Amino acid sequence: MNESNFLIDKEIEIELKKAIEQNQFSLHYQPKLDLRTGELVGVEALIRWNHPRWGMVSPESFIRIAEETGLIIPIGEWVLLAACRQMVNWQHEGFFTVVSVNLSPKQFSNSNIVKTIEEVLQKTGLDPHFLELELTESLKSDMEHTISSLQQLKQLGISISIDDFGTGYSSFNYLKEFPIDTLKIDQSFVKELHHQPNDEAIVKTIISIAHNLNLKVVAEGIETKEQLIFLQQHLCDQGQGYFFSKPMPATELKEKLFDVQQVVNDHGMPEGTRNR
Ligand code: C2E
Ligand code: MG
Ligand code: MG
Ligand code: MG
Repeated sequence: MNESNFLIDKEIEIELKKAIEQNQFSLHYQPKLDLRTGELVGVEALIRWNHPRWGMVSPESFIRIAEETGLIIPIGEWVLLAACRQMVNWQHEGFFTVVSVNLSPKQFSNSNIVKTIEEVLQKTGLDPHFLELELTESLKSDMEHTISSLQQLKQLGISISIDDFGTGYSSFNYLKEFPIDTLKIDQSFVKELHHQPNDEAIVKTIISIAHNLNLKVVAEGIETKEQLIFLQQHLCDQGQGYFFSKPMPATELKEKLFDVQQVVNDHGMPEGTRNR
């Protein structure tokens, strides 16, 4: 890292500490749909940082620093609490859905994640069946500790998903060792579906690996009708992407839900995919 990057990282670190104290974070929710029926099957909670001077700062630019500095621990706890609280609020309004929360590997290695999640569930009163955790394939350190934490979380009724599947390493180890429910195909493979024959093959392969292992498979980053139809034809279970909806604040999501769910029915649904 050169000196100016170091200074920028240092400044972001200082500002992140203030952000935690001053409540500058919020969550947006992106719908996840059943690609066969168009129904909402869940929402992914994605953190947003509204900095007083910088404006909206993308997670791509601060999650890494939060991880390196350990600030991801309090930030991650805030995310879990806010997401679970939102689900309970929605449930009070009669709207029930599963929330997926992204976890950083640091939350497994540098904190007692099982205890944190149990406390959050207790505090909010959320039934654990409405919570899913998304992990990436970068959980390299202390596999045994991670696996045992995941097993405890699964026993509570929480589901586990591998995010950005195919971009990490040791994918097959994960499939073998981790108690997972779902694979999320990384958006980089979905993006080039109609330009890169290799990506078509990779997407088809991930779908069949998932199904052979009795896992659900979700495609992320669906932006076009062509991508949606390809995924439907190859029996991908669920999808997320700008083609349906961008991530949005909780209030907006509830208002737009009907329109979002219509997208699958309005576009595509090729012959033979509806009643499989
Ligand atoms: P991710 O978990 O793989 O989330 C998907 C990202 O793709 C999100 O970016 C989402 O807004 C974006 N996306 C969704 N659909 C489309 C699409 O059709 N096209 C394109 N181009 N992008 C799409 P976002 O919100 O900027 O988050 C980026 C990453 O930051 C996430 O990737 C996740 O790894 C991390 N992140 C976000 N929130 C949290 C959090 O609360 N905790 C942790 N540890 N990481 C988080
Ligand atoms: Mg994710
Ligand atoms: Mg992802
Ligand atoms: Mg990602």
